[in-house]
Amino acid sequence: MDKEHYCPSCDEDRTFSLMASEQVHLGKKTKWWCEECGYEMVLIGESVDMAAAEA
Ligand SMILES: [Zn+2]
Repeated sequence: MDKEHYCPSCDEDRTFSLMASEQVHLGKKTKWWCEECGYEMVLIGESVDMAAAEA
């Protein structure tokens, strides 16, 4: 499963691959990695989870 999303490391839109997903009370939590640089991104629904991204 792939997703187009802005990568702050590449500073442009990249293809992200799904690493993992789990259901949480806020919605579906998904973890992605940038195929270009390996940057990891956590989304809850369609929103970036900044707390998790900085952890
Ligand atoms: Zn990247």
